[in-house]
Amino acid sequence: MFDSYGRKINYLRISVTDLCNLRCKYCMPEKGIDKMWHKEILTLEEIEAITESFVELGVDKVRITGGEPLVRKNILKLIDGIGKIGGVNDLAMTTNGILLKDYAKDLKNAGLNRLNISLDTLNEEKYSQITKVGKLKDVLQGIEAAKKSGLTPIKLNVVLIKDFNENEIEDFINLTKYEDIEIRFIELMPIGTLKHWSSNKYISNDTVLEKMPELIEIESADISSPARYYKLPNAKGKVGLINPISCKFCENCNRIRLTADGKLKSCLHSNAEVDLKKLLREGKDIKTVITDTIKSKPKEHELENGNYINREMTAIGG
Ligand code: SAM
Ligand code: SF4
Repeated sequence: MFDSYGRKINYLRISVTDLCNLRCKYCMPEKGIDKMWHKEILTLEEIEAITESFVELGVDKVRITGGEPLVRKNILKLIDGIGKIGGVNDLAMTTNGILLKDYAKDLKNAGLNRLNISLDTLNEEKYSQITKVGKLKDVLQGIEAAKKSGLTPIKLNVVLIKDFNENEIEDFINLTKYEDIEIRFIELMPIGTLKHWSSNKYISNDTVLEKMPELIEIESADISSPARYYKLPNAKGKVGLINPISCKFCENCNRIRLTADGKLKSCLHSNAEVDLKKLLREGKDIKTVITDTIKSKPKEHELENGNYINREMTAIGG
C-alpha cells in the first residue's frame, strides 16, 4: 500500500485498551480518562479481522500498544491470533513493563517477537513520582524476564522531561556499553489534555548529544524508523533519538494507527479519524476505506503551529 506521497505503508500500530495501571504525568490526565464503554472497544475477534485486512493490503509489521496492553483481558490470545496471521513478519509490543515478569515467557510462546519498554528514570523515588503509582523494581524484574524469555534486543523508551531526567541521560546511555540494548530518547509531545504541561516540560533531544559528545552517528538498518541512531565507541548497544518536535521524520513514515475504539488514524498528530468499527459491525467492506484513508495520509505533521490533537495518548498508544 502506498500513500499519495509514494510512502509504503506496512506498519500497523494497534491500541488494545485505553486503560492503564500507571498514571504517568505527561500521559494520563489528573482526573483520569473518560473510560470507554465495553461495547465501544474492539473485541479480540474484531482486532484480528481488521489486522487480517491490513495484512492482505500489505502490512507486515504490527505493534500492540495501549493504554497498557498487558491489562487487556486475554491479551495472550490476541498475540497468538495475530502471530498466526500469515504475512505478519514482525509482531512487537510497547509496554510499561510492570506486569512483564508474569507475562514475558507466555508472550514469547504466543508469538511476540520484540518489546519496547517505557522507563523514564532509573531512580526509584523519581519513578514513583512520574508514574504516580508505579514501582521501579517491577519494571526492572520485567526487563530481566523479557531478556530470559528471548524477547530481545530490548528497547527502552525514555521520554525526556525538563527538570526531571536530563541528569540521567549519561546513566541511560552507559547501559549500552556492555549490553545489546537500545535506549530511545523521545521528545515530549503536546497531546490531549496534557498538551500545555508537555509544552512546558519539553526539551530537545539535542541535549543528549550535548551531554554525550562521544556518541557517533551510525546508519539505521531500517530507513522508515523515526529514530536517528548513535553509538558509544565499542559499545554493544545503541542509542536512538526520536525527534518529532525538533526535527520531523514524516518523509519516511510507514505507519497507520488503530485506536482501542476502532478508529483509524493515518497520522498521530492529526484529529482526522475514520470509524472502522462501525463499518465492520455493519458488515461493510473495510479494505476500500483502509486504502482511501492511507491515500489521505497527510504529508507531515504541523505541531509547530499549535495544531495539537485532542485525543489522549492513552487511547492512541504512541
Ligand atoms: N503503556 C505503554 C507504555 O507506556 O509503554 C504503552 C502506551 S504509551 C502511550 C506508549 C509510549 O508513548 C510510551 O513510551 C510513552 O512514554 C509514550 N508517550 C506517552 N505520552 C507521550 C507524550 N506526550 N510525548 C511523547 N511520548 C509519550
Ligand atoms: Fe500508561 Fe503508558 Fe501512558 Fe504511562 S505512558 S500512563 S504507562 S499509557
